[in-house]
Amino acid sequence: MKRIAVLCALVAVGALSMVVSAYQATQSPAPKVLEVEKLKDNLFMLKNPDSGGNTAVFIGTTGVVVVDTKNPGWGRPILDKINELTKKPVTTIINTHTHGDHVSGNVEFPATVDIVVQENTKTNMANMRPATGREPEGPPPNIFKEHGGKGLPTKTFKDRMTLGRGADEIDLYYFGRGHTNGDAFVVFPALRFMHAGDIFARKGPPLLDANNGGSGVHIGDTLTKASASIKNVDSIITGHSTVMTWKDLEEYARFNKDFLAWVQAEMKAGKSVDAAAAEYKIPEKYAGYTPNANQTKSNVGVIYNELKSSEK
Ligand SMILES: [Zn+2]
Repeated sequence: MKRIAVLCALVAVGALSMVVSAYQATQSPAPKVLEVEKLKDNLFMLKNPDSGGNTAVFIGTTGVVVVDTKNPGWGRPILDKINELTKKPVTTIINTHTHGDHVSGNVEFPATVDIVVQENTKTNMANMRPATGREPEGPPPNIFKEHGGKGLPTKTFKDRMTLGRGADEIDLYYFGRGHTNGDAFVVFPALRFMHAGDIFARKGPPLLDANNGGSGVHIGDTLTKASASIKNVDSIITGHSTVMTWKDLEEYARFNKDFLAWVQAEMKAGKSVDAAAAEYKIPEKYAGYTPNANQTKSNVGVIYNELKSSEK
């Protein structure tokens, strides 16, 4: 009898501690720790796989420019990390495009900070539609509405804009539709560096976000225009991967053009989206590219829709 009572007590304690640890897991999320990669004396990349897109921190003569601000809750950790690097104030945020994992931290910055985006991205940020292929998750909460409009863009450009001069110069470019219809290329000419955002997120299939104006018919041309028009850049901060070279960007443009040509051939052969996607293999010449079957299927569907609507 005694033994059973002890056993019961032990089971009860065990169950209780499980409940407590489950409660703690929901109450105290993992601490938001950012890794700093020093790219130049005044250019840093802040990253953490759970945080969203890569953030660039450019320390200018009088202030700091931040490119992309990650997922909700990561604005403060970005500001804290910048405070360890410099005592200069953040003056400007540039968002490469509308996605929540690149813009949500905006709401945690002081309201005095300028927020610069391509003009279509401003429209997209007012709506914050779910990305193509992510609809089953439902529309993400509109973080800007939740914050009374704080964090929305204050300045836009159409094709080209220059901020600052001399060592502080930053050139913004837009070359057309790709990942979305508002992908900015952000160039730091004095450092021969560029942040490409998610139009070059990684070596692998891009997210073609038709819901936000993205295009599989245009992304290859857009990347080709960028790689041909922008001069004197050696290194590229990608949306979600490591720093890459200009040759990598040129190759990525070809990868996307090759994918479009392949999809066109599949459509011509009368293949369904599913049948075509199931056959796709990354061509061997693209060494180091990571396959993504779900993304490939979504992209085939996006391109089929674009090709069908252009036939009408
Ligand atoms: Zn994105």
